[in-house]
Amino acid sequence: KPVVLSGIQPTGGMTIGNYIGAINQWLTLQQDHDCFFMLVDLHAITVRQEAQMLKQRVLDGIALYSACGIDPEKSALFVQSQVPEHAQLSWVLNCYAQMGELNRMTQFKDKSAKNTNNINVGLYSYPVLQAADILLYQADQVPVGEDQKQHLELTRDIANRFNNIYGDVFKIPEPYIPEFGARVMSLQDPTKKMSKSDDNPNGYIMLLDEPKKIEKKLKKAVTDSDEQARIYFDPQEKAGVSNLLTLLSVATKRPIEQLVPEYEGKMYGHLKKDTADAVVAMIEPIQARFHEIRDDQTRLDQIMRAGAEKAGERAEKTLKAVYDAVGFIPRP
Ligand code: ATP
Ligand code: MG
Repeated sequence: KPVVLSGIQPTGGMTIGNYIGAINQWLTLQQDHDCFFMLVDLHAITVRQEAQMLKQRVLDGIALYSACGIDPEKSALFVQSQVPEHAQLSWVLNCYAQMGELNRMTQFKDKSAKNTNNINVGLYSYPVLQAADILLYQADQVPVGEDQKQHLELTRDIANRFNNIYGDVFKIPEPYIPEFGARVMSLQDPTKKMSKSDDNPNGYIMLLDEPKKIEKKLKKAVTDSDEQARIYFDPQEKAGVSNLLTLLSVATKRPIEQLVPEYEGKMYGHLKKDTADAVVAMIEPIQARFHEIRDDQTRLDQIMRAGAEKAGERAEKTLKAVYDAVGFIPRP
């Protein structure tokens, strides 16, 4: 089975955009791939975190991804800091990455420009830790968005450089380009994608938003000023309405073409109400599972333990090969 690795920021929540666009792909992937999904707490501390908050968010993440259907029997769901090989390999790779390469990373340029009072070394070598994350698992494929392509390219360069010196230690990972999935747009500006870092919380729906809140946000969703309030799918001309139709279609698992005729002569308010009901129905069982798992520390521990064990086994092999290659003597 091909190995897939993906990191998740422990931010404590996800939008229905993340759920529809990303998690659904993962659930498909885990059917026929060996998947490693990790909560990247080592990466998280490149930005100042409050310790208690970070703990809560990591546990939230474990519960949330499990609730969405990441199955610990099929995939490893684990916490990065619980597999020490990430930090260990990262150090070695630091010595095979060049300052010149890291200086070109646009994410570092962006983040350091925004956060001028904490431009720490970890933020700078973040892509090297990311390379370690990927190479440790000898991953075949890494799902990457546009913003992470440069980091995957760097990972491949570092791996090739290392392999050229020491032989085939690392598998060279390929980007995984997901099949076209639904793109969910902002409820307040349907020409932009829904994003959890939107300044206006009415633009997004979080998976853990209360049903009442979801109804309110959808009621306020921006549509258009078409006097006849026609309801049809056209993301250019009818961006807001089309976004609602997309949500309704995903949430009811019914094709858009089948839904549109049902709204002939109806008003935007009908569509909003039906979309709210469908979205709530889609996420209610996920919320229930989330709370069940989140309140059960034994269960959380089991998931983390199983994940770290599965990940650790694979990571250990790679780290041993690397240490041996560079000439470290194993502890007697
Ligand atoms: P941020 O605003 O912090 O960038 P985000 O909501 O855009 O957060 P990301 O962490 O950037 O989320 O993306 C996580 C995953 O979710 C990626 O695979 C991305 O393609 C997917 N995704 C994010 N937003 C949407 C969306 N609106 N529709 C579909 N997929 C999305
Ligand atoms: Mg984003």
